[in-house]
Amino acid sequence: MGFKTMNGIKRVRSLIALWVGRGVLRTLQLSGRRGTSLPGFIANRISVDLLFDLLAQLETSVVVTGTNGKTTTSALLYSMVSSQSTPWITNKDGANLAQGLLAALLPHATLFGKMRLRKAVLEVDEATLPRMTERFHPTMIIVTNVFRDQLDRYGEVDHALAMLRRGISYPGIQLITNADDPLAASLGINREFTLFYGMDECPTDLEMRNEVRDGAFCLLCGSELQYTRVIYGQFGFYTCPTGDFSRPRPDYAGFLQADSVALTVLSRTHGKDVEQFSVQATVLGLYNYYNLLAAVAAARTLGISPALIASALIAYEAPLGRMQVYRGQTERILALIKNPTGANSILRAIESDMRTKRICFAINDADADGRDVSWLWDIDVESFLLHSACDQYFCAGHRALDMALRLAYAGVPRDQIHILHSLEEVVFATQSEDTPVYVLSTYTALYPLGTYLREVSS
Ligand SMILES: [Zn+2]
Repeated sequence: MGFKTMNGIKRVRSLIALWVGRGVLRTLQLSGRRGTSLPGFIANRISVDLLFDLLAQLETSVVVTGTNGKTTTSALLYSMVSSQSTPWITNKDGANLAQGLLAALLPHATLFGKMRLRKAVLEVDEATLPRMTERFHPTMIIVTNVFRDQLDRYGEVDHALAMLRRGISYPGIQLITNADDPLAASLGINREFTLFYGMDECPTDLEMRNEVRDGAFCLLCGSELQYTRVIYGQFGFYTCPTGDFSRPRPDYAGFLQADSVALTVLSRTHGKDVEQFSVQATVLGLYNYYNLLAAVAAARTLGISPALIASALIAYEAPLGRMQVYRGQTERILALIKNPTGANSILRAIESDMRTKRICFAINDADADGRDVSWLWDIDVESFLLHSACDQYFCAGHRALDMALRLAYAGVPRDQIHILHSLEEVVFATQSEDTPVYVLSTYTALYPLGTYLREVSS
């Protein structure tokens, strides 16, 4: 078979995949179902080329990847770019594998496979990134951070880092990454087209905590990094004692005062201060201010004005499970947890809420949650107990007992731990007129909980 015929067959398969995918999409829409990757899954099974045929037509594309904060960073950036006149595409709900990307693009393609919209913010899983960039080079890649994920997902942190390094290894792609995270920052060392963001000033407590610190060693020589300031996890102001690696000076520096409602951003070019502006800090928690700073850096690099960025943030609503607040008789805040670092960041954010509160953990162990729940033992419950006023703990989900054991082991009095036998019970059991409830949920418990909480709020 000649090269031309091969290409012809590929083209026909890709078109058939498009039509089938669109057919499935239409059927789902008619039956009132939305927000699933199914059309993308089926179309991708028919032709793996379709995704790349559609991606190739994008004029501007931003890929958001990293261990934690992808969904929030994408949603924040999407809200900023959407404030322009041309509409953008995005994959909401964290569908960040090939089928999810395809499902997001399909509705915007004509029957002949022409994209009607040419700009996209796409959240991409770290393992999918190198397979994507092998064939398609986005305009910009944001790497939020690199943390140890659940043990049974990608294994070693080196593996995640290796995938990211391969994913960004093409010249011409603008990389935006985190200066305060030595692992993420190592991706940008001596790389052209790299911009760093980091917190030059933010509230931290100096006391060292018992947290997983993945990047505490220099990736160049293996020496232990020295910190003049620890922010959280491996984030901070670090330097290698041999002098071969240290925190890069951020091109977008964030300044955040304790209890402040504004994030001030200072941009620098070639070490010179260029402009300074403030935006409303519409998110909760220090880890989310990093997501905000990443999104602001990307939006500004794309040429969105500080005024547009600021106004987009006023209207911003957090996506499901990213600390969105449900107000009813009881105020409830829902947060997704999937690894110890993410869970610790959320506990830190909860600590900054000075009110007495209740906490509910909803822990499942389906494939999407991770089968191995040993990571619960890496959650720093002990230091949370020292710093926070929480009067009742609730545990729900398939692994409620594991979580209850973790809490008891940390020293939570037995009469403050309540086991719930279903997710529905979360709503009734945690009810209290004057005590807010933080609900920390793994992935598969998140959607049902979101539905129950929506029903009892407003
Ligand atoms: Zn070193």
